[in-house]
Amino acid sequence: MSSWNLSDIRRLKIGRTYTVAEIAQTLGVSRNTVRNWHGRGMQPIDDGRPTLFCGDAVQEFLRAARAKRKQKCPPGHFYCLRCRAPRAPALQMADYVPRTDTKGNLRAICPECGGLIHRAVSLAKLEAVCGGVDVAFPEGQ
Ligand SMILES: [Zn+2]
Repeated sequence: MSSWNLSDIRRLKIGRTYTVAEIAQTLGVSRNTVRNWHGRGMQPIDDGRPTLFCGDAVQEFLRAARAKRKQKCPPGHFYCLRCRAPRAPALQMADYVPRTDTKGNLRAICPECGGLIHRAVSLAKLEAVCGGVDVAFPEGQ
């Protein structure tokens, strides 16, 4: 993952244009990372070469990307309502509680507050969602 900080993006000046290389240098990320942002919707000022980005457009894109990532639970994490944050389950263990034949909830314990944390999941995506978490199934599954 890229490792820029919110404080770094303020170094990009509003109203100035930047090349991919300049953005990479300013934020301390690779050029490929910047090209990847471009591919994910960061808007250049036009179709010209070299591709130029406006400082405010870059800031806006990265702020939005960060906000989005914050809300999403990474693999192996469940959202704890009490902590209001994604948490990796205590002991890396979770129970699968089926709701239908293909869908259910993962239930685990928050390592911070000790409360129950849940994550809705389909059986098909179980592996992708769980990361390294050990999932216990009810008898007979
Ligand atoms: Zn918690």
